[in-house]
Amino acid sequence: MALGFLRSFIQRLQPSHFTSIEVFDSRSAVPETMGRGVMAVVGTPARPKWVYFRCPCGQHIVLLSLQASHDPHWRLELGRGGATIFPSVRLTADPYCHFSVRRGRVIWHPKRFWAGRRRA
Ligand SMILES: [Zn+2]
Repeated sequence: MALGFLRSFIQRLQPSHFTSIEVFDSRSAVPETMGRGVMAVVGTPARPKWVYFRCPCGQHIVLLSLQASHDPHWRLELGRGGATIFPSVRLTADPYCHFSVRRGRVIWHPKRFWAGRRRA
């Protein structure tokens, strides 16, 4: 656990970006081994249903619903500058991660700040 914490701490010091977006028809089509910086969108770019990615800490696999009928759900915007996810993503499984993705860039939030939704 201490090693995992150290590893995620070091990774957070490095700039993190999502540089590639891959679109899949179904959740089962998403490969299990996703590289960091890759965002897997399930659905179509116009109607995305889910977004999967490896947490920028390197230790979580994040799956977010983009469907308004789900609670919680997130909004994904695919713009020229990269992907934006709203609101922020907070993971309480060790190690604690709370970050926003804005135009492909990961912005870490300190633990005391809490303005996003918890992952289901
Ligand atoms: Zn994480």
